[in-house]
Amino acid sequence: LPVVAIVGRPNVGKSALVNRIIGRREAVVEDTPGVTRDRVTYKAEWLDRKFSLVDTGGWEPDAKGIDRSVAAQSEVAIDLADVILFVVDAKVGPTATDEHVVRLLRKSDKPVFLIANKVDDASHEAEAAVLWNLGLGEPYPVSAIHGRGVADMLDAVMAKTPKLSAIAKHEIGGPRRVAILGRPNVGKSSLLNKAAGEERVVVNDLAGTTRDPVDEIVELGGKLWTLVDTAGIRRRVHMAQGADFYASLRTSTALEKAEVAIVVIDVTQPISEQDVRIIDLVLESGRSLVLAFNKWDMLDTPEMEDKERRRFLEREIEQDLAHVAWAPRVNISAKTGRRLDKLVPALETALENWDRRIPTGKFNAFLSELVAEHPHPLRGGKQPRILFGTQASTRPPTFVLFTTGFLDPGYRRFVQRRLRELYDFEGTPIVVNMRVRE
Ligand code: GDP
Repeated sequence: LPVVAIVGRPNVGKSALVNRIIGRREAVVEDTPGVTRDRVTYKAEWLDRKFSLVDTGGWEPDAKGIDRSVAAQSEVAIDLADVILFVVDAKVGPTATDEHVVRLLRKSDKPVFLIANKVDDASHEAEAAVLWNLGLGEPYPVSAIHGRGVADMLDAVMAKTPKLSAIAKHEIGGPRRVAILGRPNVGKSSLLNKAAGEERVVVNDLAGTTRDPVDEIVELGGKLWTLVDTAGIRRRVHMAQGADFYASLRTSTALEKAEVAIVVIDVTQPISEQDVRIIDLVLESGRSLVLAFNKWDMLDTPEMEDKERRRFLEREIEQDLAHVAWAPRVNISAKTGRRLDKLVPALETALENWDRRIPTGKFNAFLSELVAEHPHPLRGGKQPRILFGTQASTRPPTFVLFTTGFLDPGYRRFVQRRLRELYDFEGTPIVVNMRVRE
């Protein structure tokens, strides 16, 4: 989906605007613990046009850090969004921070919309008009709280939003899109440098490829790949505060552009909550996943023959990564280049399965066999039955079961497990939804 990002100082009403655009209810319902805490992207829709809405406002710095954090938000938006909504508080007028952001935004060649928020009635329109001074074109006066002006603004935004997402563009050709993710110091830039190395391709020679300056095209295993948001890897951000949020923002937005993620994990360190959080962001995005265990050279040297660490690593993988046991795991050394070529078949498998479609006939044969062998447990004397199923979509494979009642979560997990056993969806999340028919 195309990405629309909202940036602006704290308290200008970014969250209110997000809520207004996606519908208040959705914003309040946050029932996935561990994931929503970092939530920055939302599915949104306007007049049948779907897009991803990125809220950069998830971190409110203290007064000293405002310039820094707003600049970092804007930087992510400029690099990774298709359209930017820059929100200013019309009641306050442009501040020094706003002007700083404007300088950043004017350098970008992405469409930027200047949103004058808190224009709750016509009497405040004049305050919005003053914002012409910022040199970002026409200000759009809105009231995020009351909804005033939001429809007109969205009409204008949609007119400038590309119809095709980066992924849809891929469908008409171009290398597949890979995001390299992981917490700081796991070896992302080392991996990128090794992969990009001398093999760097002159991109302009590739006909029909659209490329953001933040992406790089590299050759691995005789194939070309687009590594998305390499600017985010090359650019080191040192920030005492908000670094986690910044990293999540970057990760979530890069995932919007990617088809498959390589999550890099440092084998010399215990698997951390942060590693798991990054993997959860991949799951939430529905992208396919490859796990790269890096710095294996440290466990392999004779003087560092670290048997203990290896045993711990195995145990940590079992405990902390059980929910992604389906993801291909590749042991690499970005430093020596060892086994980097093994990433390629892993990426290919993950993408193939992500694109995979099970014919409806086969899927229903699978379902009836499964039900015959292991029926849903009785509940209150009744037994919910699966009437029929179909694969609604790919990327990731998404199935719908038509049932006569709600299936227990345990039973749904059982269906998922069986699907994986039979069809080997290595490297891709799969989704099983339910439609209850009365
Ligand atoms: P990033 O923050 O994820 O981009 O991590 P870097 O690529 O900057 O790597 C962090 C540190 O780990 C650097 O000192 C690298 O030299 C080192 N490093 C990265 N990959 C490897 C590896 O495979 N083996 C070893 N021994 N060190 C590595």
